[in-house]
Amino acid sequence: MGYSALSLMGHAFRGNTQWPTLIAAPDMRTIYDIVIIGGGGHGLATAHYLAKIYGLTNIAVCEAGWIGGGNTARNTTIVRSDYLLNGSFALKHFALKLWEDLTQDLDFNIMYEPRGYIDLAHSDGELEQFELRANAMRLRGADAQILDRSALKARIPLLSLDMDKRFPVSGALFQPAGGVVRHDAVAWGFARKASQAGIHIFQNCPVTGFDISDGVLQGVQTAKGHITCKQALISVAGESSAVAGLAGINLPLNSINVQACVTEPVKPALDAVVNYNVGLSYLSQTAKGEFVLGGATDGYASFARRGSFERIEDVLARAVQMFPFLSRLRLMRHWSGTADITADGNAIVGQTPVSGLMINSGWGYAGFKATPAVGHQLAELLATGILPDLIAPFALDRFALGAEQDDAGIGPYPWLH
Ligand SMILES: Cc1cc2nc3c(=O)[nH]c(=O)nc-3n(C[C@H](O)[C@H](O)[C@H](O)COP(=O)(O)OP(=O)(O)OC[C@H]3O[C@@H](n4cnc5c(N)ncnc54)[C@H](O)[C@@H]3O)c2cc1C
Repeated sequence: MGYSALSLMGHAFRGNTQWPTLIAAPDMRTIYDIVIIGGGGHGLATAHYLAKIYGLTNIAVCEAGWIGGGNTARNTTIVRSDYLLNGSFALKHFALKLWEDLTQDLDFNIMYEPRGYIDLAHSDGELEQFELRANAMRLRGADAQILDRSALKARIPLLSLDMDKRFPVSGALFQPAGGVVRHDAVAWGFARKASQAGIHIFQNCPVTGFDISDGVLQGVQTAKGHITCKQALISVAGESSAVAGLAGINLPLNSINVQACVTEPVKPALDAVVNYNVGLSYLSQTAKGEFVLGGATDGYASFARRGSFERIEDVLARAVQMFPFLSRLRLMRHWSGTADITADGNAIVGQTPVSGLMINSGWGYAGFKATPAVGHQLAELLATGILPDLIAPFALDRFALGAEQDDAGIGPYPWLH
């Protein structure tokens, strides 16, 4: 259907009155069964599965800013499950299964594209390690392949395999089911579905305190008023230590900047996600044709949500080693998110020392891929009180017990080693 210039102008002045509202704007009750703190993908997925699987809807989601304003829509959209340790693999692999059907489940196009995730090895030793990881993945039911240099050239023709580099490429670990998902749509899709189910979502509503009596949660204080509740979930990514601190909980994590950037759009040239493993620089091409690039963190604790040019320069230098043609593209913009990172680089999920108060944190710059699985599992914990197997390895007490989940597959966190 065509639009005349006049009808388009009419829409501009009238506003888009036919567009349905994405989420309802209810009045806040004084009592809810559960309060979810943080309206990012993880918190909203938890809300969705609480309604969908357990029929629980007397739930408030309190978001300090706007839906999709946090790391959920700041990330580089990569999903994969190429992890070595059972705990790390199982949760992300379950997530990949959920990503497959999430568009239908939410009736919202989240654009899961299993283009394949390619992790480059830069020495024969590293390639041997990748073979170990590929074997472990296959034993647990995932498809994982090792690509030698000629297979890599066939799969990614524009990848430079010149040997006269500081870190030449020896081969790669390839997970065909890895790929990208449209990140902001994930937040909106979960929010809309949860809202349609009757869950109350409040934007511009930071949680500012907790009411705790004898170690038991009684309620939360928010910018829109006090809520009495028996259970609450803190799911606030980079703000985890600050919000948990309001409940007197000292989490073993740091908040740190992670940056990403995007080039001007060009015609399709890359149909996979490729990661340069030395020092970390990874990229994929969007449906619009832009290259989205990311890399390691800025390496110092900060809540600033803006990063250094040095990190961007480093990411781009490595990206140009992979794809020399990138040097001719302009960078359009770059941005940052505050990630929350633990000493073993893995998440903290489950019960806190305050009875009734759950935590979901420590996802660093690797938590988007786990979004639906985390929500699914936390919904089970909140609805049944039983700790599901897939999140059990990420309990807070693992640091005291020495049961850390230090997994090389989570991506390098250089200051840990
Ligand atoms: C640049 C970058 C690239 C990344 N790339 C990837 C990737 O490719 N793949 C991957 O798997 N992961 C990636 N990640 C990590 C991933 O984005 C996060 O782990 C994940 O999105 C966390 O989801 P979330 O819902 O917990 O957080 P968020 O989306 O940040 O949601 C938390 C919400 O809590 C809110 N909040 C904070 N304080 C309060 C309060 N007091 N009260 C109420 N609400 C509050 C915030 O406003 C925010 O909206 C990346 C991260 C960054 C920053």
